[in-house]
Amino acid sequence: MDLHDDARSMAGDLAELRKELHQDPEIGLDLPRTQEKVLRELDGLGLEVSTGTGTTSVTAVLRGGARDEADPKTVLLRADMDALPVVEETGLDFASGNGAMHACGHDLHTAGLIGGARLLAQHRDHLRGDVVLMFQPGEEGWDGAGVMIKEGVLDAAGRRVDAAYGMHVFSSMYPHAQFLSRPGTMMSASHHLSVVVRGQGGHGSSPHRAKDPIAATAEMITSLQTMVTRRFDIFDPVVITVGIIEGGTRRNIIPDTARFEATVRRFSEASAVRLREGIQDTLRGVARAHGVEVEIEYNDEYPLTVNTAAEVDFSASVIRDVLGEERYEEMDVPIAGSEDFSRVIDAVPGAFIAIGAVLPGLDHETAATNHSPRADFDPAVLPDAAAVYAELAVRKLEALAQA
Ligand SMILES: [Zn+2]
Repeated sequence: MDLHDDARSMAGDLAELRKELHQDPEIGLDLPRTQEKVLRELDGLGLEVSTGTGTTSVTAVLRGGARDEADPKTVLLRADMDALPVVEETGLDFASGNGAMHACGHDLHTAGLIGGARLLAQHRDHLRGDVVLMFQPGEEGWDGAGVMIKEGVLDAAGRRVDAAYGMHVFSSMYPHAQFLSRPGTMMSASHHLSVVVRGQGGHGSSPHRAKDPIAATAEMITSLQTMVTRRFDIFDPVVITVGIIEGGTRRNIIPDTARFEATVRRFSEASAVRLREGIQDTLRGVARAHGVEVEIEYNDEYPLTVNTAAEVDFSASVIRDVLGEERYEEMDVPIAGSEDFSRVIDAVPGAFIAIGAVLPGLDHETAATNHSPRADFDPAVLPDAAAVYAELAVRKLEALAQA
């Protein structure tokens, strides 16, 4: 059987499905229209399909025709389905007009895994175990993977999955149609920092009679950047980016309060506690110096995405064999983004794989990045993604059956 040939014959279909998903994006954990499309596409493939209660997820189990009834093995394949609150500026004829945008390419992930499901269904007679297809809402900060794990996706086939694979397209950074991964840490852990600075309002002309929360806030933000460079090893980097800053109503009024929010990223467990403490020390110290109060909220979002080395090796060999030797390369540095697929491969062995989907003719170093209103992804990677999803499952189940 040649899954890649079969996948290539689906290229037009998958590109159409991707367009349909792209045109009608939804945000968060509640994606009813996207779920409906996925259910429609899976219909008739002979899968055991269930939907989530805490989120509009779709879990589909494909029972292999050549499974070992005494000791069946299971592989999980994951695609996320949610979009972002970005107003699209791609100018595509299938661009979204509803204020949300598939600016992170999750429409391609969904279409690619539908392709994988079709391939696996066509070749189910040879399949030596079961496959769990995980269609996940709410990757973009809603912890959809966490919700699906609580609802049992890792045991959907009746037992714990043996290995899990996920993929992510990139509109820039990586060369066209290149597949990449790396053993160990591939993506950062993320935290959410929210800070309220309470001073004492007054007349802008007489700051000595007030306690200015704006000046304190400004110093806190710059001090956090200095703290990062002075307290952390440059070879174990951390990132703090303030994305929201609010305070005041008029230029000559010192307000009572100001606030800001930041995203915080780290690449090791070793820096977790030091980072939280460093942020708290810095903010409290600056607050004391200015005579203001500070309220700090610091929450964990997604853990480090840590690939199982053996599963990266396995994935690399499958990709090279299916697509060609030159189509896989090891990523030299991790990605600074974060992913809730981290929760899946924290629980079971697995690998996350990046796909360069820059449009042909654009330079991947300068093309609009994921999350940009101008991010665009080449649908030509869809049949390759579908074939790799399917082959990872077929070959892993084969290897597990022989082990
Ligand atoms: Zn994404």
